[in-house]
Amino acid sequence: MTTPSIRIDANPSPTPPERRAEILSSPGFGTYFTDHMFLAEWTPDAGWHDPRVVAYGPLSVDPATAVLHYAQEIFEGMKAYAHPDGSIRTFRPYSNAARMQRSAERLALPRLPEELFVGAIDSLVRTDAEWVPSGGETSLYVRPFMFASEVFLGVRPAKHVTFSVIASPAGAYFAGGVKPVSIWLSSEYARAGSGGTGAAKCGGNYAASLLPQSQAAEHGCDQVVFLDDVEHAFVEELGGMNLYFVYDDGSIVTPALSGSILEGITRESVMTLAADLGHEIIERRFGIDEWREGVRDGRITEVFACGTAAVLTPVGALKWADGDDVAEARSSDGEAGKVTMAIREALVDIQYGRADDRHDWMHTV
Ligand code: PMP
Repeated sequence: MTTPSIRIDANPSPTPPERRAEILSSPGFGTYFTDHMFLAEWTPDAGWHDPRVVAYGPLSVDPATAVLHYAQEIFEGMKAYAHPDGSIRTFRPYSNAARMQRSAERLALPRLPEELFVGAIDSLVRTDAEWVPSGGETSLYVRPFMFASEVFLGVRPAKHVTFSVIASPAGAYFAGGVKPVSIWLSSEYARAGSGGTGAAKCGGNYAASLLPQSQAAEHGCDQVVFLDDVEHAFVEELGGMNLYFVYDDGSIVTPALSGSILEGITRESVMTLAADLGHEIIERRFGIDEWREGVRDGRITEVFACGTAAVLTPVGALKWADGDDVAEARSSDGEAGKVTMAIREALVDIQYGRADDRHDWMHTV
């Protein structure tokens, strides 16, 4: 299939440069958006058509639009980085394209060609190049998403689907230095079930994680960890990050993909970089008791989580309900571990163009 060419309708009233500079000096996360957005439509007869970059603004949505009722929606999350040579580059966008195709299949949405996915992001980021922050660990967060835009209340795959990409400048996740987070073990809720949608990046998975995430916050924790839904004994992942366990012999364990874990692009990249640094990487089922006991007897020396937003985050403590009390297994006392930081640095150095892109991961927009 050939990819239709992308039309660009420039925003007639873009953000004034002074206001943009003000936003870029302190962007936070997910609050401010660039001057443009990408849109394309799909119907069974015409396939993907009308790809365009237009002024960012509200979409007009009929109350009977299918996505509002049945949540037939998927998304991706990735970043564009300003490099020292003046280029703007995204990290492994073809991996995000492939994951969006897998998510689309599970949610009965149409397959989006990789070239259209990457081409859409390239056109938007090029159009809004002035919105890519530079300095520190700042980036332009890119959010591709696809949803059932057909106006119809029947429960079946939509016959009108919209694909869009929006972008939002993002400040450094750890502005005050990388600090360990605390994790709450959700014993009451699962994030995903076997045969469910856990391996897809669909909005419903995140809706299901909000209540357990707020329980984590009530217990003073930053994130929630979910177990498998059958035996309630094996570690799956956090609400938005994959997990790694570093052992005293230098080996590193990560939960094997179970069908209900989201296959992170960072997770995969960490495996490659940790192997480059001489670590043995083991993907296997990982019991929650192994976590507790490994940390207590010192065999597990570091725990970290990884994902696009924070890259690598050290995990300081695991907490769980023990009768009316809260018990904890602490893997760090406030400092990030050496292995965690070495892998983190290897990854961000490639992302920000400070190291040789030896795995050919960066894509120039
Ligand atoms: N797990 C979940 C549930 C996530 O939402 C994310 C973020 N996309 C990840 C893991 C990490 O994936 P990635 O490294 O591709 O950002």
